[in-house]
Amino acid sequence: MSNTALSPFVDIRRKLHQIPEPGFAEVKTQRFLLDYLAALPPERLEIATWRTGVLAKVKGTAPRRILAWRADMDGLPIDEETDLPYRSQHPGYMHACGHDMHMAIALGVLTHFVHHPVRDDLLFVFQPAEEGPGGARPMRESEPFRRWRPEAIFALHIAPEYPVGTIATRPGVLFANTSELFIELVGQGGHAAFPHRANDMVVAACHLVTQLQTVVSRNVDPLEAAVITVGKIEAGTKQNIIAERARLEGTIRTLSADAMRRIKERIEALVAGIEAGFGCRATLDYGASYCQVDNDPTLTREFLDWARARGDVRVVECPPAMTGEDFGYFLEEIPGFLFWIGVGSPHGLHSSRLDPDERAIDVAIRLVTAYLGWKASA
Ligand SMILES: [Zn+2]
Ligand SMILES: [Zn+2]
Repeated sequence: MSNTALSPFVDIRRKLHQIPEPGFAEVKTQRFLLDYLAALPPERLEIATWRTGVLAKVKGTAPRRILAWRADMDGLPIDEETDLPYRSQHPGYMHACGHDMHMAIALGVLTHFVHHPVRDDLLFVFQPAEEGPGGARPMRESEPFRRWRPEAIFALHIAPEYPVGTIATRPGVLFANTSELFIELVGQGGHAAFPHRANDMVVAACHLVTQLQTVVSRNVDPLEAAVITVGKIEAGTKQNIIAERARLEGTIRTLSADAMRRIKERIEALVAGIEAGFGCRATLDYGASYCQVDNDPTLTREFLDWARARGDVRVVECPPAMTGEDFGYFLEEIPGFLFWIGVGSPHGLHSSRLDPDERAIDVAIRLVTAYLGWKASA
């Protein structure tokens, strides 16, 4: 694809790709979006901001309701390792989750409806801080979102594992409930040669990690899916000193809110057991959590049938994934769905080499424009 023949929204994506910013610091990104919107004919647009986010309502011709489309805005703390001429200009940050693609697609759809209005109002929600600390829940409660509260809300996410021209989703849970897990154990340090005068938190931490493995295998229905991963342990200072402290960091993922609740209860019981058994003090912190992305069954089924009937994209009904997505907080209150859009890249999401196929931008703009146009005129 030569530079002169770039679709305007590919060009926009490349500009956004160069300025990745972390959650609630999307200052240049917000400026870029507001400048773009300011250059559109103003008669049909109402614009509001919330923190670093942007809400843009395209007024319908005879609105009965508001339908919303959401795009996330933040980049990730990753050093980009591609050789692309438009690679990140912000050292240490990269759009490695495709949110630059999501924003470019949303602007493409929005631009279409500014020039070709339909019956209902369409609200475009540019949401900050998807990757953390979590923008969806506070944005859902924000004044502009409440003022323009939509009747339904939709979103997409790029999928490196599917080729361009493929979309995938499912009715019901698409993404997991996720929770961080931080456990701190405090005992009594001492000389390695006098274990009886100390209280070793390396031993306590090893027991706890082993016990945590039993939660999924012994406490969760085998027909339900759940993950507990301890990804990091820190303990001790030196080989001949008994460790006074140990810190475990991990993540919990489930496909139902109920399983998440039960798993947390079991973890709390095991941690209390370690405290009693090893005579130490423990603190437990769940950090950030995301609720599941629970696609509305009726709307999702209707969308799948609609997309299949069009025949211009391959439609896959995919299994749920153990990844989390902030969009779940919108779906907790408002019916809608999220779908994957193929961008055929050998490098996955959150990879420093992610290089999505940009032809997916026009595929997505066409598909989403047709879908929202259909829903907003029906
Ligand atoms: Zn991500
Ligand atoms: Zn993402």
